[in-house]
Amino acid sequence: MDQEKTFSEAERLSQKASSAHLTRRSFLQLGLASGTSVLLTQRQAFADIFTFFQPVQVGNPLATYPNRGWERVYRDLYRYDSSFVFLCAPNDTHNCLLRAQVKNGVAVRIAPTFGYGQATDIYGNQASHRWDPRCCQKGLALIRRFYGDRRCKYPLVRRGYLAWVNAGFPRDPKTGRPPEHYFQRGKDSWVKVDWEKAFDITAQAMQNIAETYSGPAGMERLRLQGYDEAMIEATGGAGVQTIKFRGGMPPLGATRIFAQYRLANMMALLDARVRGVDPSQARGARGWNNYSWHTDLPPGHPMVTGQQTVDWDLVAVENARLIIVWGMNWITTKMPDAHWLTEARIRGSKVVVIAANTVQPPRRLMPH
Ligand code: SF4
Repeated sequence: MDQEKTFSEAERLSQKASSAHLTRRSFLQLGLASGTSVLLTQRQAFADIFTFFQPVQVGNPLATYPNRGWERVYRDLYRYDSSFVFLCAPNDTHNCLLRAQVKNGVAVRIAPTFGYGQATDIYGNQASHRWDPRCCQKGLALIRRFYGDRRCKYPLVRRGYLAWVNAGFPRDPKTGRPPEHYFQRGKDSWVKVDWEKAFDITAQAMQNIAETYSGPAGMERLRLQGYDEAMIEATGGAGVQTIKFRGGMPPLGATRIFAQYRLANMMALLDARVRGVDPSQARGARGWNNYSWHTDLPPGHPMVTGQQTVDWDLVAVENARLIIVWGMNWITTKMPDAHWLTEARIRGSKVVVIAANTVQPPRRLMPH
C-alpha cells in the first residue's frame, strides 16, 4: 500500500515537472520519491536472493540432480575425432613423439604419447616408462604455430637477392664482391616463389660461388676482400670451401643431426665439376658446428672428447654419483630430460655446476 502511494506521488511530481518547467525543488522531490520506490523493490529482490542462498541439505548429489546432461558440455570440449603421432622438431633437438588430437579437421590439442615405455631396440630391449611423459610447454603450444599467421608456409627470397640472381650474379671483376644494393639484409622485403624456383636459385647460387672463388683467381679475390691468408690457403683453391652449412635447430634434431653436414660433403660433387678435379681430390663445403658450443648441450664434452653429445646421453646421469653440469642450463634448455637430473639428485647424486659468473660487482649508486 505504501509502495503504491509512493509510486503515485512520484508520478504526480514527474508529470508536474514535465508539464511545467522543472524546478530544483521539484527535481529533488522527484528523485527522493523514485529512489524510495527503487529501494523498496530492491529490498524484495534481496529477500528473494537470500532465500535462494539458504543452505540446502543434499545427501547424494547425483540422486538430487539426476539430469547430468550438462556434463556433456565439458566432455564435448575435450572430444576429438581422431589423433595422430608426430615428431616435434621445430623448436629444439629433443624430437619428442607427440600426439595431436583432431576435431572437425583441425588439430585442437597436443599431448605426450606416453608410448616411450613400449619402445624396443633391434635387440628387443624395452625402454623404461620413466621416459614418459616426454614433452614440454613449447610442444604443447605448438598448435599455435601450426595455425599461426606468422608461420612460413612457402619459400621466400629476399627481393634484392632475387634481383641479383635475375641479373646473372653481377660481381666486381676484381674482388668478386656483389654490388651492395642487392644485399640490404634486414631492410629488404620478401618475394614468394615456388619450390622449383627456390631449388633453382639455390643451385645456381652455389655454382656461382664455387666458380667465383675456385683456383688461383678465386683465392686472389678472397685476398682482396681481406681474408686471412691461412683461411685462404685452407680452401685449397676449392670455391665450395667458402660455403658454410649450418642448419637451425629443426634440421639439427638428433634424427637428422648430420643432414646439413652431409649436404656440405656433397658439395664435393660440385667441386669436381667446377674445378674438373678427380673425385678423390674434390672437396666438400664447410659444416659449422656451433651446436656444440651454444650451450644447449654441454660444450665441455666436445672440448674434452672431440665428440658432440646428443640429448639421449643425458639419461646417463641415472648411474652417476657425481654430475658435473658444465656450461649448460639443463633444467631450462633440456626440458624433457630435466627429470633425469632431478631424480638423480633425489637419489643423492652430487651436482657440480660450472657456469659463467653472472654476479655483477656492486655499483656505485651516487657519484663520489
Ligand atoms: S622438448 Fe618440447 S619443443 Fe622440444 S621436441 Fe620435446 S616437446 Fe618439442
